[in-house]
Amino acid sequence: MSENITDSLGAIYFITLGCAKNEVDTDRMRSLLLSAGYEEAYDVEDADVAIVNTCSFLASATEESVEATLALAEEAATGVRNLKIVMCGCVPSRYGEDLPSELPEVAAFVRTDEEDGIVAVVDRVLGCERVEAPLVPQVKRTVESAVAYVKISDGCDRFCSFCAIPYIRGRYHSRPWEEIKAEVCDLVAAGVREIVLIGQDTGIWGEDFDESVSGPGNLAQLLVAVAHAVRPERVWLRVLYLQPEGMTDELIAAIRDTPEVLPYIDIPIQHCSARVLKAMNRSGSEDELDALFQRLRREIPGMIIRTTYLVAFPGETYEEHEQMLAFMDRTGFDYTSVFAFSPEEGTRAEKMDGQIDDVEKLERTQAAMDLAESLGFAATAAHVGERAEVIVDGIEETDEGVELIGHAWFQAPDSDGAVHLDATEATVGDIVEVEFTDSFCYELVGHVVE
Ligand code: SF4
Repeated sequence: MSENITDSLGAIYFITLGCAKNEVDTDRMRSLLLSAGYEEAYDVEDADVAIVNTCSFLASATEESVEATLALAEEAATGVRNLKIVMCGCVPSRYGEDLPSELPEVAAFVRTDEEDGIVAVVDRVLGCERVEAPLVPQVKRTVESAVAYVKISDGCDRFCSFCAIPYIRGRYHSRPWEEIKAEVCDLVAAGVREIVLIGQDTGIWGEDFDESVSGPGNLAQLLVAVAHAVRPERVWLRVLYLQPEGMTDELIAAIRDTPEVLPYIDIPIQHCSARVLKAMNRSGSEDELDALFQRLRREIPGMIIRTTYLVAFPGETYEEHEQMLAFMDRTGFDYTSVFAFSPEEGTRAEKMDGQIDDVEKLERTQAAMDLAESLGFAATAAHVGERAEVIVDGIEETDEGVELIGHAWFQAPDSDGAVHLDATEATVGDIVEVEFTDSFCYELVGHVVE
């Protein structure tokens, strides 16, 4: 057991890989373990157990997760005292059966749907015998910044042909309103100023509820209900990961008419060609997507739109690639994530005809990234001269001294760039009015208006 931390059952060091959804899962495990008598170690040297919460969205993410685990195992073998490694999350969910023989360095594997049992796993790994079962607490989130992600659902029923998530995270299930409300209210009471609602497919939140469930029944109603729950505090609400079919009239109205809800939408369309979308097991066409984005921009002027292009899907012709580039250009997305197709084990697209060779894939990906950057940089520069509210996120050291960093309502945290502020007086969590004076890449420079 840890020598530095004397009153706890042991010290746990957490490593999270992958997306914000994993950060939320790690935070839940942290809360369960701390409530059960464990302590957090901030240095692996002080830890008795290292929890690696893994990502397996792409083969490269799986590799990164395994490498991080092996690096820890090597550290443990060459110095860190008797460190036990517990691998959690997407890699065990996806490859569970094969892992014990392939990774003997790992003491336990915990799938995503087993993470609420993390205390029993760590107890077992450390040989801790409890006289009484640990109290299962009302899980409290850790508040480390002015922004917090809140999961409203998990799993996915769409089975896009390139994606392993439904096999890793299971079928779609919405989180109950009362749980979401309690978590949001706790976070806001602890000083959080922006709540980012996430899930694999947020637009269909509530569709799996039966008639006996009371309270909000769809995403539009959820946004309005969350906004009411946080008042009178001044809080921004952002929702990420909507699919085009989720953009109902009711949702557009809720975004437009609810002051707390930011006019920012993240719709990963992946492609605009109807043929490619069908091969991806998705729906829609260029005309439908055109109509959707035009409607959004018409009904919510100034709306910020983020999307995703999955480049070089099997069978994507050069003309279809150019069709997507032209669509991106015409729509003028503010932010576009570009991913090269990767044949994920166990997905239908892995074995599809028409796999695109690496050289061609790289060229198409580079062209898409170049366009995404030029659109994004121009969209960022267009804010120069404007005034907008900015949440102060933290302080950074620069060559000239320290600098306050924040993000404007049109920048999703951790994704879209930041605002570099000329003030030093504001404190983290403040919402300040800023005039933007310059931009570089996705970053803005601004001064706080008195
Ligand atoms: S919507 Fe498609 S890409 Fe997104 S998680 Fe579900 S299956 Fe994967």
